[in-house]
Amino acid sequence: MRYAETGINLEIDLSRGSIDRVASDPRDTELYLGGLGTNAKILWDRVPPEVEPFAPENLLIFGAGLLCGTPATGCNRTIVSTISPQTKLMAFSMMGGFWAPELKYAGYDKVILRGKSPDLVYIWIKDDKVEIRDASHLQGKGATETAVQIRQELNEPKAQVAAIGLAGENRVYFASIEQGRSSASRLGLGAVMGDKGVKAIAVRGTGDINIAQPAEYLALCHEVLEYIKFRNQNPIPGVMTILQGLGSPQEMATHDEKWHTENFMWGNSRVRRRDFWTDEVKKAWTETMENMRTRLISCYNCPMKCGATISPPGKPTYMMKCFSKLTYTMAAMSDLDFGLKIAQHATEYGVDGFSTPQVMAFALELYENGILTDADLPGMPSDSEGRFYWLLDRIVRREGIGDVLANGTYWAAQEIGNGAEEYAHNNIKKHEQLPLKLSMLNPVYFLMYATGEKINITQIEGQFPQAPYPKREHREAFVKDWFQVPHEKFKQYFLDWEPRGENSNPYYPTVQMSCDIVDWQEKMHYIDDALGMCAGLSSFPLKPPYHIHNYPKFIASGAGIDMDEEKLSQAAKRYRTLVRAINIRRGMRRKDDKPPENHWKKRFPELEKELLDTYYKFKGWNHDGIPTKASLHELDLDYVSEDFVGRGILAAGDDAPLKENAAEKVPE
Ligand code: SF4
Repeated sequence: MRYAETGINLEIDLSRGSIDRVASDPRDTELYLGGLGTNAKILWDRVPPEVEPFAPENLLIFGAGLLCGTPATGCNRTIVSTISPQTKLMAFSMMGGFWAPELKYAGYDKVILRGKSPDLVYIWIKDDKVEIRDASHLQGKGATETAVQIRQELNEPKAQVAAIGLAGENRVYFASIEQGRSSASRLGLGAVMGDKGVKAIAVRGTGDINIAQPAEYLALCHEVLEYIKFRNQNPIPGVMTILQGLGSPQEMATHDEKWHTENFMWGNSRVRRRDFWTDEVKKAWTETMENMRTRLISCYNCPMKCGATISPPGKPTYMMKCFSKLTYTMAAMSDLDFGLKIAQHATEYGVDGFSTPQVMAFALELYENGILTDADLPGMPSDSEGRFYWLLDRIVRREGIGDVLANGTYWAAQEIGNGAEEYAHNNIKKHEQLPLKLSMLNPVYFLMYATGEKINITQIEGQFPQAPYPKREHREAFVKDWFQVPHEKFKQYFLDWEPRGENSNPYYPTVQMSCDIVDWQEKMHYIDDALGMCAGLSSFPLKPPYHIHNYPKFIASGAGIDMDEEKLSQAAKRYRTLVRAINIRRGMRRKDDKPPENHWKKRFPELEKELLDTYYKFKGWNHDGIPTKASLHELDLDYVSEDFVGRGILAAGDDAPLKENAAEKVPE
């Protein structure tokens, strides 16, 4: 019997119109867990590096995490994986909400799409019954609108629907997949779904999931719930409001935006407005939020209520959470009223709330600097808000300049030329990042930005505080109940971290400490992404309820897999390395492991080199960032080394890359 997982994947070939139920190998679950881990294994096995994002051979995998559908609080993530049109590397974006548990209850762990449908279709999964249905009547419809219509026509009000909007249909590189209470937004997954001709996947399941040791498992779940209650009543002192509690940053509940508006950058990520947050602004923004926010809402089986339904006057209701509250407002140099209204359009169109505002602000900066002219933007309104609506409409329809901008700032800048590249300044691996520009280099964040392959800093950070507490007595109080640390040494790292002087950034945390901290943080995110756990209850906040000490027990009693901390760390390292191997095979190298040039004003090239050299060694990668044969062997990934040797990425006799490949980078 399979526990926690169903052991069945749905394979749908859209070119042939075939649907197959395929049993998965339980040995793969032991080695790669589930969710991201087994998604990566499938992509490695079946999508060779020659396959382009929009080729029929590219797969789009919707993987429910290993523990999704079990009673574990907050375990509801769908990990959507493919080859990204934006980066041409592996994409894995998480979707919360209700979709993954519903898929499990229908009897499947993953939906794997391949090929391309000649006509627009949607997929309807109800337990054993799976159909590919005509979606021509849904063409051009909004993502939320589509979900509503599908539920109505199926007469299935409880169906969970993941859908794309117009942006996905038109293969906008930052198109999202929307799912009512969450979305898989980053890296253009919606564009791949649109390219495959799939408007939506609707699912309803009425089955159940087996738990290996139900009594033990429920006791663990109960402990987690108790701890969440405790943390909700005891916010962490000494850190900014949004980092004090659990869950996604509580942007829907909080009205105090002093920190974001005065520290993050406005416009095209270049302007800081240090005195922006006045009493008048606070009053106006609070009123706006209270008038438009109709309800706080949670994902499946979670008490945290990180999201909210937003009902702008005269517009349909939509769901919002986290920093997307501010992205449109700040990019357009406008106010919250505008941000909440345009986000309704953007959600229906199905676009990423981080990239889209940056792309539009980038276009306006090019216009202000004469690189784009009136001839490129015919009929564009003169006011900032009007321009944003105008640009958004053109981007999702790929009309005129919108067709160029729809490929994101990196590719658009290449196409526009004439100095536009300089304005695409906030990218990592060709992908837009948080609009944050700082002064002093932080060695931990340098490594996370440079080497992260989720390519989104908020999904790498967590666990270790972002800044030192000013006084030692406060640091001592912080570490007292910090039981989540994998090793006591992390407490000492934090205790000795000072805001100024010898033990401060950029040389403290030291290079070795930085490697330890980044590895811990990254590991927790990768574990979450395999189990389907929301990062908001594990890898992202300080002192979370799920951690390296209780996760093995969840896996053992839930999935019936013999597990301890060491085995779990090894499994996470295995599929983390496999993700890197997929990207290395697609041409990624050391040259691509870097933060945006202007992320910090004060840079330290020698220190940065040492950080990267040491971290690569620590991870078992060679000088060029390629996993070595020895480290691959230790992780049972000999098939990866054989492939690397066959392709000339590693030489047969040693771990050094072949000379002609050493400087290779992501294909242009
Ligand atoms: S913590 Fe928030 S984002 Fe995470 S599952 Fe719960 S409600 Fe959803």
